[in-house]
This record gives sequence, structure tokens and C-alpha cells, in this order.
Amino acid sequence: MEVRSRRKPYGENGSTSGPTIPKGDVGSDTTTKDNLRMGDDHRVDNSSEFEFGGVWGTGLAMVFFPLLMWYMWVGQVYYNSQFPMPGKEEAIGNFVRKVAKLAYECSYPTKKAWLVYWGFLAYQSLLYLTLPGVWAKGNPIPHRNNVRLDYYCNAIWAFYFTTATAIVFHVAQILPITFLVDEFGSFMSVGILSGILVSFIGYFSAIYRGAQHRMTGRFVYDFFMGAELNPRIFGLMDLKMFLEIRLPWFILFLVSCAAAVKQYETLGYVTPQVAFFVLAHWLYANACSKGEELVITTWDMSYEKWGYMLIFWNMAGVPLTYCHGVLYLVKHNPSVYQWCTGVNVSLYIFLLCAYYVFDTCNSQKNRFRQMEKGTLVIRKAFPQLPWQTLKNPKFIRCRNGGTLLTSGWYGLARKVHYTADFCQLTSWGLICGFSSPLPWFLPAFFMAMILHRAWRDTDRCAKKYGADWEEYKRQVPYLFIPYVI
Ligand code: NDP
Repeated sequence: MEVRSRRKPYGENGSTSGPTIPKGDVGSDTTTKDNLRMGDDHRVDNSSEFEFGGVWGTGLAMVFFPLLMWYMWVGQVYYNSQFPMPGKEEAIGNFVRKVAKLAYECSYPTKKAWLVYWGFLAYQSLLYLTLPGVWAKGNPIPHRNNVRLDYYCNAIWAFYFTTATAIVFHVAQILPITFLVDEFGSFMSVGILSGILVSFIGYFSAIYRGAQHRMTGRFVYDFFMGAELNPRIFGLMDLKMFLEIRLPWFILFLVSCAAAVKQYETLGYVTPQVAFFVLAHWLYANACSKGEELVITTWDMSYEKWGYMLIFWNMAGVPLTYCHGVLYLVKHNPSVYQWCTGVNVSLYIFLLCAYYVFDTCNSQKNRFRQMEKGTLVIRKAFPQLPWQTLKNPKFIRCRNGGTLLTSGWYGLARKVHYTADFCQLTSWGLICGFSSPLPWFLPAFFMAMILHRAWRDTDRCAKKYGADWEEYKRQVPYLFIPYVI
């Protein structure tokens, strides 16, 4: 399972120069991380703790999310971007059958959609394996003697190449980018079915190879949470990393570009609102790509397993539900969402400010983590912002050997990056106005998800850092908004 380096880690492709932090016994804590105690079999989760409502909650979520996606798309196409509701005299059974029939009609997974989706996946794999990039180290893995896996990061180049390829395919009419708007339903169905298919393959392949980790023995729950922690193909491709960035955010960006092109072809111009989405989705996709090496030490990479939750969400949920705002705009006449210049400019400024906090806060913490391990990778990918790296940061030296940052954004509030992310996504709703609920699905969903995530992470950190976490909370009393809450 170790990375077999196709390029030399920390050689000519990356440098580990830059500030470092005096080392403690970083990463030697194996006591509470991952809910395991020393000596336990890492394949068994003996914590008796179930998240997301256990078997019932996860089972319902797996059925609910795909159905919700089809339901929302039917609303977008046939119900003037409203949630489909039964008519006054309409029996519920008839209504359900009608919506199912409409979903079949507007989202049949065509051969072309399969070809485009999996062609895109294959192309991304090729870019992952061939383009230049940098190497970075993951967090220590307690049940593997704290080994830190090497990750190859070249998403930024893949992003540029993907954008250039989409332009060439559009101009040469090999695949007009407007396909993503015109045949969105088919593409979405392929994403949904592929997410489910890959979840099964990932799960049973891990069981077959004996690579399972933290299993509870409840099939539905384990299937949702995943079986394997670090799935890799031939040691070359880290599947969790691969799916986390390239698929969701690149597709999302391409959908908003498709909407802009579609609008230009139909109206002869692009509205400031659709341009807003192109900018917003570019910012997000570019941030994930340029800081790919920083994603390695986030919670998804180091703790979550490769199960339905991550796979489905990355292959279908993020790219094909987060775009409902821009789909709403392109489906309606601009007169429905024509705001005055002041409102438009304010929303652009709001987006850019929220992005700044999101980018710099995540950078500060993740670069701090790299600095203390002496593996900070200096990159110059655009845009490099002021205050991304903290010089001489203050931190708490914890009794378990770890550290907790107490300066920069993390010194102002413990989860200020969640707030900034929420503000970004809220601006995606605001730019659409309030005529349709569909663009507001994302901010509402994200708020519920991120609150739950903040609670899960706090719970985990409290167990991991014990009294030092209490001291951290004393020094940084605010959770989401400095000096407020
Ligand atoms: P974090 O990057 O905050 O990771 C949490 C971990 O950071 C903790 O478990 C802990 O891990 C470490 N940590 C916490 N406090 C400190 C501290 N003071 N000093 C040093 N390390 C600390 O969160 P996420 O991985 O959840 O999110 C990263 C970004 O991704 C966020 O901006 C979030 O909004 C975004 N996101 C976006 C989603 C979307 O769908 N748009 C979905 C999920 C996330 P340890 O101590 O073990 O290192």
C-alpha cells in the first residue's frame, strides 16, 4: 500500500524549504485518535459510537440523497424551479408516479452521458499520472506505526489542462460545453449511478483484500462510512484524494462555464449573476487545486474512510447539486433576477472577502501543521494571498505530543473557516434572489452539515487533546465568529 514513487518525493518537483516549528513529539499520540486504543485491532471499531443516526440514519441518507437530486431536477425543469408539490385534488400516489415518470424523461442516463462522465474520469486519471506536481506527507497513521503516506499533488496543472481541453473540445465542436446544461439530467443520473457503483466496488474490494478499518459490523453503517482508510491503486493513485478535488470542483466549474456559454449563445451576453458563478466556482476549484497538498491533512483525508458518504458526495452530490443556482439563472430570463449595480457589486465584494478568510484560514492551519513536521511545501500557484503563512505562530504544546495553533485566524475563532465557507455559499444563493428555493438548497444543507461537522470535530479533538483542548477553548473562546459566538 505504500507509495511507489514515480518521481522522487521532495526532489525537483517540490521543495520543503520554508519556516519550521520546533518539534515536539508530533504525531506520537495513538491513544484516542480514530477512536482506537493502543493494542486494539484497528479493523474493529469498539467505541460503540455511531454517527449520522447509526444504521437507520445512514440507510435513509443513502436512499434520500439520490431521490432528492432527481426530485430537484424535476422541479427545475417542469415546475418552474420550484419544489414539485401535489395539486389540490391530486392523490399522493399519482403525484409520486408522475414525478418518477418526469424524472425518467428528463434524466435518462444516455450512452453519451456515460461516455462523457467516464471519459472525464479517465482523462483526470491520465492527468493525475502524468502532469508535474509536488510531493507532500499525510498525517501519521496510528495503526500503521505512525507512518505518513506520500501524496502526489498536481491538481492545479490538471485544472488548467482541463479548462484548456474543454475550450478546445467546444471550439472544435467535439463536445460543446453546453452539453452540461442541455443534457444535465442525463449527466446527473450517470453521476448518481456511478457514485453508487463505485461505493460498492470500494467496499467489497477492501473486504476482499482485508484492508478494512474501524468496522462496526453493521453493514449499512459500514457501507456508508466506508471500509478502507487509504485506498490506492497500485500505490500510484490515492483514490480519496483523487475524488475529493478533481471530480466535484472541476465539474462544478465546467457547469457554470457551460451556463455562461449557453447564455451568451442565447442572449448575446453573459449576465453579471452568471459571471458571478463562474468566478465563485473558479475560486473554489482553484483553491482546492492550488492548495491540494494542504487538503492532505484535513479531516476527510486523515480520518474519514472511503465509503458511500465521500464517494457519492464527490462523484454526484457536490458537482451536481451545488450547481442549482447557476442552472436556475440560465433557465430563466434575466429580467427575473436583475439587481441594481450596487447589489451586484456588494455581492461580489462579499464573495471575495469570504473567500479571503476561507483561503487564508485553511492555509494558516494546514501550513502550520506542515511546518511543525518540517514538510512545508512552498508553491506559487495563483493567487498567493497575504497572511497565508504565519511567521512565529503561537501554539499550545499539548500533553499528547501534539500542538494547537492559537494565533492567526485560529486565534480569533476556532472554526472561522467554516463561517467563511458558509458566507461564500450563501452569496451563491443571494445572487439568485428568493424566487426559487433551489439555489438555497446548498446554503441550507451546508449549514446543517457544517454544524454537525463542527460538533463531530470538537468532540474528537476534546477526546484527543483532553485538558489542553479546554485550555485552547479558554484562550480562544469563540467558535464561529470572533467576539460574537
Ligand atoms: P479543519 O481543517 O478545521 O480540520 C479539523 C482538524 O484540524 C481537527 O480535527 C484537528 O486535527 C485540527 N485542528 C483543530 N483546531 C486546531 C488548531 N487550533 N490548531 C491546529 N490544528 C487544529 O476542518 P475540515 O477538514 O472539516 O474543513 C476544511 C475546510 O473544508 C473548511 O473550510 C470547510 O469549510 C471545508 N469543507 C467544505 C465542504 C463543502 O462541501 N464545501 C465540506 C467539508 C469541508 P489534528 O489536531 O488531528 O490535526
